Amino acid sequence: MPELPEVEVCRLGITPHIIAQNVAQVIIRNSQLRWPIPEEVRSVIGLPVLKVDRRAKYLLIRFSTGTLLLHLGMSGTIRVIEQDTPVAKHDHFDLVFQHGKVLRLNDSRRFGAVLWLANDVDEQGLLTKLGPEPLSDDFAHGYLFSKAKNRKVPIKTFLMNNHIVVGVGNIYANEALFQAGILPTAKAGDIMEQRLNKLTDIIKLVLSAAIAQGGTTLKDFTQADGRPGYFEQSLMVYGRAGLPCINCQTKLDEIRQANRSSVFCPNCQKD
Ligand SMILES: [Zn+2]
Repeated sequence: MPELPEVEVCRLGITPHIIAQNVAQVIIRNSQLRWPIPEEVRSVIGLPVLKVDRRAKYLLIRFSTGTLLLHLGMSGTIRVIEQDTPVAKHDHFDLVFQHGKVLRLNDSRRFGAVLWLANDVDEQGLLTKLGPEPLSDDFAHGYLFSKAKNRKVPIKTFLMNNHIVVGVGNIYANEALFQAGILPTAKAGDIMEQRLNKLTDIIKLVLSAAIAQGGTTLKDFTQADGRPGYFEQSLMVYGRAGLPCINCQTKLDEIRQANRSSVFCPNCQKD
């Protein structure tokens, strides 16, 4: 599943190819994504792209009349390719530009989304209820501690709650808790402020490192046979259950939390 770093790298990868370019055509091959693709997305025809932003895992393509919102769901990829590139299975949506390139969404599981926010009005409230961006100054020391007060929920579930902070998905929650030395099962409200501040710093480092690593794949966003959005990463715990901890050689343990895999070192990580 694409997580925040993949979506940010996607944004960086597609922006230079579509910024200030005029849309010539909108092609909807299958409108049945997570929500039906609204016909209003065709209102961008003739308009130039003003900016490409990201909020949480939403890509926001800004036009003078509103915002085209894209979400990659579980399996989505976006590429900018030549107009004559043959259409593949699961290529559901194209934005065709006047300069001959196409922004193409492929999504085999169709949990992704293409929506239109006319005049940037967010009727579904998709963006308004989100917590701060983890790489912004709003996610600072003291923030997690204030939000965690009296909360009995496990810290890992707490971190993955988009109302607390966006974009800390399963992989990065596992990695950050390992590096911060905090057990994923520790109760959020019981953790000292100093440790939550350290966790805040580590979340920023882990996500920044993943974005930097993904930067090497930027060219994949313009290759028809590329696999944009799923870059190789060096992970310390995620996907390494049963293998030795890189710090202390203790066998890494695995449990299920909120139906997701949590991998941790029972020696290095504490309540
Ligand atoms: Zn260890």
